[in-house]
Amino acid sequence: MQINKTRLKKRLLELAQIGGNPKDGWTRLAFSAEDQQGRALIKRYMNEIGLYIDEDPVGNIFGRTEENREKAVIALGSHIDTVPNGGMFDGALGVISALEVVQSLKEKQDSLKVPLEVVVFANEEGSRFNTGLTGSRGLTGSLRKEELNFLDSDGISLGKAMEACGFDPARLDQAKARNGKYQAFFEIHIEQSDRLEMEGKQVGLVDTVVGQLVIECVVYGQANHSGTTVMTRRKDALVGASKVITGIQELALQMGGDFVATVGKIDAYPNSVNSIPGKVSFTVDIRDISHEKIIQGLEQVKSLLKHAVGDGNFELRVLEEQLPTILSRDLSGIAESICQRENLPYQYVPSGACHDAQVMSMITDSCLIFVPSIGGVSHCPEENVEWEDVYIAAELLYRVVEGI
Ligand SMILES: [Zn+2]
Repeated sequence: MQINKTRLKKRLLELAQIGGNPKDGWTRLAFSAEDQQGRALIKRYMNEIGLYIDEDPVGNIFGRTEENREKAVIALGSHIDTVPNGGMFDGALGVISALEVVQSLKEKQDSLKVPLEVVVFANEEGSRFNTGLTGSRGLTGSLRKEELNFLDSDGISLGKAMEACGFDPARLDQAKARNGKYQAFFEIHIEQSDRLEMEGKQVGLVDTVVGQLVIECVVYGQANHSGTTVMTRRKDALVGASKVITGIQELALQMGGDFVATVGKIDAYPNSVNSIPGKVSFTVDIRDISHEKIIQGLEQVKSLLKHAVGDGNFELRVLEEQLPTILSRDLSGIAESICQRENLPYQYVPSGACHDAQVMSMITDSCLIFVPSIGGVSHCPEENVEWEDVYIAAELLYRVVEGI
């Protein structure tokens, strides 16, 4: 192999020392102290490799092989932030592999044909502020300013959290990559599904990434005393919300295919044992490969709300939207021919999760390579991979980039 397996594994395990352990999982929420520690470690690696380091106003880290910022680069990367109590490979695998590929190429080649850049995207997961892919959307010019006002559970806004880490989100516009900066983008990621494992494949070449719409619904009722308010005079927001939530489950089953809808977060106010809930807010995460079906799903959620609580008693706002994406067939084709030549068991797969590669495809040819997830589990402490599959993915990426 051209890549250094020992170094790759050592760094992944070293990053896993930060913000978690195999029992509780890993919690490196975006712009938290743990995230900052992780970022510092990545910058240390970049220094060791001899990369020129930059950070942009929204917190992306760039490590380039050349000081000159004018030349078009081939970029490789992913994210190091995690969901609460997540796994050690989601994102981290892509960043550490990118560092390994770039370092190996630098060591093995006298001069690189095209400058390379390792990117660590800020706030990919989005669990802290209910909005994710912040870094890649900042870089591609699709991050909305109002998202900087989104709050975490402590009432800290995304913008303030960025500032606390030394970034300057007021200069959001300057995070946008100049035209022509990127020649291509590559990301290695765990599959987070069991398709590859079931098929006995070691490499997943992603052809499509599902679209995603995240909305927040707020249902209004009337908070009141739980002992003195008779049942017939109640306006219980939680009862209304639960009808909608059950309806969402049914509508998703009816839509069929790959359509999924999830109510993953709910808050009741005042959230007290002896009060009737006066207000309930919950999120709905809708995904499908067809944008039309996502919009259809949204319309149905609206009509569920109308039926359950009536006009004027609810609000709905879009938190995040990603269009379904078809990734570069040219780049996956290069990877495919290497797999065929090297006899690597591979398969084209769709991605049900959103990734920075999908956002980057707005501005450059993008390629996403999946490493099989053991048991298909992810976003939990048990998330795992076979090390051999990790090495194969990194080696494949080395070969692809070497050949461009
Ligand atoms: Zn991820």
